[in-house]
Amino acid sequence: MKSRQWRLALSVALAWPVTVLAQPAPSSVTALVGGTVVDVDSGRETPDTTILVQDGRISQIGASSGVAVPAGAKIVSMKGKWLIPGLMNMHVHLGLKLPGAQGAALANETDPEEVLRMADNARRSLLSGVTTVRLVGEDHGNDFVLRRAIEHGEVIGPRIKTAGEIIVPTGGHGSLEADGPYGLAKVVREQIKQGADLIKIAISGGIADTHGSISAAPMTDEEMSTLIEVAHRNGVPVTAHNGSVAAAQQALRFGINGFEHGYHLDVPTLKEMKAKGVWLVPTMVVSQPGAREFYKKIGSPDWYLDRVDSTGKDHWAMLQNAIKMGVNIALGTDEFPYEPNGGTTATVAEAELYQKAGMTPLQALQAATIKPAEMLKIQEETGRLQPGKAADIVAITADPVKDISALRTIDFVMKGGHVVRDDASAFLAD
Ligand SMILES: [Zn+2]
Repeated sequence: MKSRQWRLALSVALAWPVTVLAQPAPSSVTALVGGTVVDVDSGRETPDTTILVQDGRISQIGASSGVAVPAGAKIVSMKGKWLIPGLMNMHVHLGLKLPGAQGAALANETDPEEVLRMADNARRSLLSGVTTVRLVGEDHGNDFVLRRAIEHGEVIGPRIKTAGEIIVPTGGHGSLEADGPYGLAKVVREQIKQGADLIKIAISGGIADTHGSISAAPMTDEEMSTLIEVAHRNGVPVTAHNGSVAAAQQALRFGINGFEHGYHLDVPTLKEMKAKGVWLVPTMVVSQPGAREFYKKIGSPDWYLDRVDSTGKDHWAMLQNAIKMGVNIALGTDEFPYEPNGGTTATVAEAELYQKAGMTPLQALQAATIKPAEMLKIQEETGRLQPGKAADIVAITADPVKDISALRTIDFVMKGGHVVRDDASAFLAD
């Protein structure tokens, strides 16, 4: 090896002394020793527990006194920490561009540039403790490219489930326009052909729109029923960006699977959602007072800030009703999962808002773990700390069953058995 390469290798080794932790050999075992494991179903906490991880999966969980740690295992002390499943954020756009100065600077971004920016956002999201994201609208198939790269280990990021592009009637709140039942059927089939795990449609206007009303229902019955039927015939669920009661009622009639935001949904609509098991992904951080800090930072115009304020009150009342009524809620932010928000991340701030609106801390933790896993139908793969499940594990230094703000103390992140962050050993896959 030439001396320049040696110097480079040496400097990398010095800068990241525990890099070896990130890529364990296939059969090596990692032992997380002495932590308190949280059962996110019951809230039961088991102190002094050891978790063995092998080949990306949890192979054993038990009392530290009873688990035999194999010779040669990598040992990570979890004393004084609580272990929970990796967090899941169900409303993410990794290529997000919003109105304002930051969005304007990206106006001429090419697809290759955007994919690299999305990869950076994916890495930051994972390091913030989010091991699974559901993408609900990206450009030109860039999400499929990124998902493949993450699955191949070329870049690091969360597990991705994605909708491809947002399908809308012409003039709607999204990028892929189509009209008439057959026009819409074709674009749905195209997204599924590319690899969409779900279909995202916009059935009403959005906060960011300069035209149209959030409360309108611009699609015809024929259009909406055909779109949903085609997706369902392919085994793919459909979720809708929606703030309109009229559009919600129409979509519920045709078997919609979920609503994003739900700004103005009323009690009868929530009741029907509960009865039909329709999911709600609230994205409270975009409409509540804390959002102003974020929108100012990105240079959002005044008309946008006004729309946020007028929507926020209804949105909060809707969430309180949904919680009271037991509607299925899965956490989502509509901001980058790691976006700074009130001294923590958007993901954690969102969970805190759920607790403030009436969830118990455990329910808020469920909304960030097992509920999303159920919504994505990956609960056999991840969402709980159990033998056989993917080793998607986050450690925190406070008790999340007492107060969901404990999520502010995330200091260790493992995805699929790979440690990507360990603050105690100053390791960051950065
Ligand atoms: Zn969104």
